Amino acid sequence: MAKKTMIIGEVRDGELRHVSFETIAAGKVVADGGEVIGVLLGEDVSGLAEQLIQYGADRVVTVTHPDLKSYTTDAYQQAVLQVIDLEQPDGILLGHTAIGKDLAPRLAMKAQAGLVSDAVAVELEDGEPVFTRPIYSGKAFERKRIKEGMLLATIRPNNIAAMEKDPARTGDVSSITAEISDLRTTIQNVVRKAAGGVDLSEAKIIVAGGRGVKSADGFKPLQELADLLGGAVGASRGACDADYCDYALQIGQTGKVVTPDLYFAIGISGAIQHLAGMSNSKVIVAINKDPEAPIFEVADYGIVGDLFEIVPLLTEELRQI
Ligand code: FAD
Repeated sequence: MAKKTMIIGEVRDGELRHVSFETIAAGKVVADGGEVIGVLLGEDVSGLAEQLIQYGADRVVTVTHPDLKSYTTDAYQQAVLQVIDLEQPDGILLGHTAIGKDLAPRLAMKAQAGLVSDAVAVELEDGEPVFTRPIYSGKAFERKRIKEGMLLATIRPNNIAAMEKDPARTGDVSSITAEISDLRTTIQNVVRKAAGGVDLSEAKIIVAGGRGVKSADGFKPLQELADLLGGAVGASRGACDADYCDYALQIGQTGKVVTPDLYFAIGISGAIQHLAGMSNSKVIVAINKDPEAPIFEVADYGIVGDLFEIVPLLTEELRQI
């Protein structure tokens, strides 16, 4: 049965994150022929509405307010609840990002909706959307459906293919000014770290280093390989704890969960907590000098040897292609 489905587009540094388009594709399945409405929140986001339509949204509602410039749970929750009141959707989808993970449970509680978090697939079964989500750190999958009431779900980046962009697609864009009051938190100032290339959680290729990399300098060949492939550099907690790199790069149970097309695990032993963040990568290549390292159990391709010899060789070889 056709369902009116809202997706919340996510904006970072004035640009839409790719997961927004993947969420539209999931929204199309959930809507089952019904309307997919893109929602954009911010201080001024109207310039991005067209992109949501080109990626499959039927129309877009922009919600503007100075307090929506940077994300706070309080302000975003108030703004989205206003759109829910206005549109009365049957379902709402968000990216399973830092924002989505924070906002979705609040909305579910306030709107008395059922929530499926971290979905990696969605399909219709007897006309109802059924979501697949990993459990036990990716060792198993469960399938979930919301039996009644409004449906909320967060979609893990890099798992559901976005629709092909169609520049000729058109749709209505309407705008509302949010009414926001009694904020408990406001953002005074955002201090950014130096701009860092490809976003780790959306990267198609990740070159991750572990304690085996031995120093901050040891990460340079990994960065070179990542740059060559248009990928991002990630790390194990071992490498972060040893101060070889920033914690923002940490992948795993207490770091980022990633699902790239290609994951290089270099000088990483493959502890269960690391696997929790990357074992669902489509292709895993492990480089480790210890043939018994557990990372080889999840790797599709393994190279036993010294990473300081192999990584430059690999980079050189790939440069020839
Ligand atoms: P190590 O285990 O020390 O492995 C280094 C590897 O490098 C070894 O396999 C070695 O053979 C190889 N090596 C060394 N020199 C070379 C060389 N020259 N060439 C090739 N290979 C070489 N870890 C995470 O990664 N992410 C998490 O989110 C996370 N969360 C945690 C949460 C909790 C509650 C706990 C208790 C732990 C968590 N950990 C996490 C830590 C985890 O248990 C491991 O300690 C950590 O993943 C180990 O990092 P590593 O593989 O880089 O280091």
